Amino acid sequence: MSNINININMKKKKNIALIAHDERKQDLIEWADYNKGTLSQHNLFGTGTTGSLIARETKLKVKTFKSGPLGGDQQIGAMITEGEIDFLIFFWDPLESHPHDPDVKALLRIAVVWNIPIACNRTSADFMVSSHLMSEDYNRIVIDYTKRYG
Ligand code: PGA
Repeated sequence: MSNINININMKKKKNIALIAHDERKQDLIEWADYNKGTLSQHNLFGTGTTGSLIARETKLKVKTFKSGPLGGDQQIGAMITEGEIDFLIFFWDPLESHPHDPDVKALLRIAVVWNIPIACNRTSADFMVSSHLMSEDYNRIVIDYTKRYG
C-alpha cells in the first residue's frame, strides 16, 4: 500500500526539546553548554529537571514542562503532534529502566511518526546541530497515515 506524503515546514528558528535521564543529564548539560551559540538561536524546551538544570548551568532560556516521570515526556510528545516541537535531543539511559518507560517509548515513537530529527546520544546531537539545515527552512516530509488511521 502506498502512502501520500505531506510537507511540514520547519522554520530557521527551530523548536528544540531537550531531555535527559538522570545518569545522562551531565552529558547533556555539557553538550548544551558547548553548543550554546547555536542553541541560543532557537526556541528551547525541556522536561522539568533537565530544562531547569540546562537553564541554570548555561544561562540559555528554556521553557520547562513537568518532570518526565510526571508527564513531561507526554507533554513534549503532544507538542510534536501539534507541530510545535520539531527537533528532539533525548539522552535516555541505556542501562536503567524507569517507571515512565512507556512514556519514553511513546515519545520516541511519535517523533518517528512526525519525522522530526532525534538524537539520543552526543555524537548524533553533534552531527545534527552542526548541519547547515539548522539555519535554514526545511520541508519535513511526513507520511500521511490518515488513510490507515483516520
Ligand atoms: P526530568 O525528566 O528532566 O524531569 O528529569 C526526564 C525524564 O526522565 O524523562
